[in-house]
Amino acid sequence: MTQEYFPLSPSLWAATAAPAPDTVPLDGDAEADVVVVGAGYCGLSTALHLAERGVRVIVLEAREIGFGGSGRNGGQVIPGMKHDPSELLKTFGREKGQRLVDFAAGSADAVFDLIDKHGMDVPRERRGWIQGAHTPAALDLAARRVRDWSAQGVAARLLDRDEVARLLGTDKYLGGWVDPRGGGVQPLSYARGLARAAQAAGAVIHTGTPASQLSRSNGTWRVTTALGAQVSAERVVLCTNGYTDGLWPQLHKTIINANSFQLATEALPEAVRRSILPEGHVSSDARNLLLYYRLDHTGRLLMGGRGTFSEPDPADPAAWSHLENVVAKLFPQAAGVPIAYRWCGHVAITRDSLPHLHEPAPGLLIDIGCQGRGVGLQTRMGQALAQYVVSGDAQALPVAPSSIRPFPLYGLRRLYVSAVIAWYRMTDGGV
Ligand SMILES: Cc1cc2nc3c(=O)[nH]c(=O)nc-3n(C[C@H](O)[C@H](O)[C@H](O)COP(=O)(O)OP(=O)(O)OC[C@H]3O[C@@H](n4cnc5c(N)ncnc54)[C@H](O)[C@@H]3O)c2cc1C
Repeated sequence: MTQEYFPLSPSLWAATAAPAPDTVPLDGDAEADVVVVGAGYCGLSTALHLAERGVRVIVLEAREIGFGGSGRNGGQVIPGMKHDPSELLKTFGREKGQRLVDFAAGSADAVFDLIDKHGMDVPRERRGWIQGAHTPAALDLAARRVRDWSAQGVAARLLDRDEVARLLGTDKYLGGWVDPRGGGVQPLSYARGLARAAQAAGAVIHTGTPASQLSRSNGTWRVTTALGAQVSAERVVLCTNGYTDGLWPQLHKTIINANSFQLATEALPEAVRRSILPEGHVSSDARNLLLYYRLDHTGRLLMGGRGTFSEPDPADPAAWSHLENVVAKLFPQAAGVPIAYRWCGHVAITRDSLPHLHEPAPGLLIDIGCQGRGVGLQTRMGQALAQYVVSGDAQALPVAPSSIRPFPLYGLRRLYVSAVIAWYRMTDGGV
C-alpha cells in the first residue's frame, strides 16, 4: 500500500539532525485508547498532547519519524494561513472566523513554546518572517496583511524597497512586510524532539509500520499493519497529509500533493553570509509559485520552490537547476558557492486552501491539507485534535469536520496543475 517516495536522506536536515529516538516496528498485536497514523508534526503533536492527558496512544509510521513534510520542509515557522485574517472573518463570520485567526496566530508560539518546554535539541531562531513583494499588486497585498495583523494586535510592519533590500540581501523586491512572530527551526530535529517528548509522556511510536487496513466492529477499531500485526483502539486519528495513501477510500483524492523542491549550499563565506538575511529573518515571497529562502544555523543558504510533479532522480541535479538559477539571480553574491544538498517533498493542497477535518465513521478523525504552511499549523492542529478527542468539544477544532469530497476530475490533475503552473509562471514574472 505504501508508494515510492523521494528518500529523506539526501536532505540537509537528515545530514544535520539530532538523532532519532529509539523506535521499532510493531511485531505483535497491541491495544491502545487511540491509534495515530503518521509520525509528522500533526500525528506527534496529537500523540504528545493525548499522552499528557493520560490517554494510551500508539503511533504507527510507515517509514521513519519526520519522513513526510515534517522532515523535509523549509523550517520556516509562519504564523498564518494562506487566507488572511480579514478573508477568514468575512468568509466564516465573526465567531468562527476569529477562532480560525486565533488558531493560526498562535501557531508559531506553539512551536517555540514546545521546544522550550521539552528542552528539545533543535537549532532555532525567532527573528521574524519577511514576505517580499515582487509586483505592485503584491505590495498592496503586503499593506493589507500589515493592516489585518495589526488589527489583531501583531506588531507587523511594512518594509520599503530599501529596507527590504537590506534585510533580505537582494534588490529584487519592491518592498514587503515583516511579521515578528515568525522564525526558523531545524525541521527534522523538531519532529524528532516532538517524538521524544511524546514517548516521555507515555506514547508508543512504531516506525517501519505502514497501516494497511482499517476496520471497525462492536465499537472497536482494528488497524492492521502491512507487517500483519493489529492494533485495537476506540479511536483512530489519521495524520498522513501529503503522504496519504489508499488507507481510507477517496481521501488521497481530496488533495493535490504537489512537490516542493529545495537545495542548500555549502556554508557561505563569512562576507557573503553577512550580506544575506543579515538580521536572521526567514523569508518566502508573495509569488503564486513562491520562492522561500533562509540561512540555516551553520550559514548555508537554502532555496525552495516549485518542482516537477513526479519524484526526481536524486542523482540528477538538473531537476533542481531552476532553483540554482534563482539563487544566482536573487543572490549573485552567493553564485559559485557549491550546492551541497538537493531534496523535495509533498505539500497537500486542498481545493479551498484550508485545512480539512473529516469524521467519516464514529471514532475516526482525519486531518489533511497543510498548503505548505505546516510547521506551526500542524503542531497546533495536534493540540486541537487531542483536545477534541478527550473532550468531544467541537469548539476545540479550528474548522468543523466535513464530508470527504474528491477534487473534480482528479484523474486529470496533472494536466490542470500543469496549466495552472504555466499560468502562474507567466503572471508571477521572472526573478
Ligand atoms: C519541501 C517542503 C517545504 C515546506 N516548507 C515549509 C515551511 O518552510 N514552513 C511551513 O510551515 N511548512 C512548510 N512545509 C509544509 C510542512 O512541512 C507540512 O505542512 C507538515 O510537515 C505536515 O505535517 P503532517 O504531520 O501533517 O504530515 P507529514 O509530516 O507529511 O507526515 C505524514 C506521515 O504519515 C506517514 N504515513 C502515510 N501513510 C501512512 C500509513 N498508511 N501508515 C503509516 N504511516 C503513514 C508518512 O510516512 C509521513 O511520515 C513544507 C513542505 C515541504 C514538502
